[in-house]
Amino acid sequence: MPLAREAVELLVQAARAWYFEGNQHGLRDREWMALRFLGRANRFSRTPSALAGFIGSTRATASQIVKTLESRSFLVRKPSHEDKRSVVLHVTAQGEKCLSQHDPINHVVNAVTALGTEECIRLRDSLREILNHLDAAHQRLDASICRDCMFLAERSPGIGPAAAKGRATAEFMCRLYRAPVSLEETELLCTSFERTRDRPKIKAHLDRARVASQG
Ligand code: SF4
Repeated sequence: MPLAREAVELLVQAARAWYFEGNQHGLRDREWMALRFLGRANRFSRTPSALAGFIGSTRATASQIVKTLESRSFLVRKPSHEDKRSVVLHVTAQGEKCLSQHDPINHVVNAVTALGTEECIRLRDSLREILNHLDAAHQRLDASICRDCMFLAERSPGIGPAAAKGRATAEFMCRLYRAPVSLEETELLCTSFERTRDRPKIKAHLDRARVASQG
C-alpha cells in the first residue's frame, strides 16, 4: 500500500474517537465539537454564526446545540463589548471541567503527548500543512490562529491613550476588526482567519514573546 494512503487510513481510524454514534457523557459528537471550539475560540468567533460555520451546520442547528450546552450549564451568553446587539458565548467553569475530564479526544491527546515534544511539533506542522493544501483546493479554512493571519499587525510601543497614561497596551492589532489583540489571544481560534505566507518578522516576535511569557 502506498505510504500516503496508509497514513491517511490511520488518520481515518483515529477520527473514530471524535465522530461517533449516540452520545458520550451526555453529549453527541457535534456538541462536543462545539464545546471544544468555543473553549478555544477568540472573542470575535464565539458567536452562533461563527460556530455554525466551524461545525458546518445551519444557524438553526448551531442554535439548538447552543441551547443544549446552556441547559447543561456548559455555556452562557453575554452581550458583546464590541457590538451591544450581538452576543458572545462563554464556556463556563463547568464546561471547562467537562472538557478536561471527558472530552472524547482526550485519549488521542494523551497518545500524541506520549510521542514527545519534537514528534508533537512535527505532527502538528505536518497536519497544518495538509490542511493548508486542502483549504487551497477548496478555498476555505474553518479556523486558525492570529499568528498565521494576514490581518495581524504589531502595535508600535507607546502608542495610544493607555500607553500615554503609563498602562500596558495589547501587543498586536487585528486590522480586520480594528481591535487590539493580546499575546494570549494570538493562540486562540478565529473563523475570520486569512492565511499569509510571508510573516517572518511577526512570527519571530511572537515566538520570542511566547517563550518570555512562559518562563
Ligand atoms: S488577526 Fe486574523 S485571526 Fe486574529 S482576530 Fe483578526 S481576523 Fe481573526
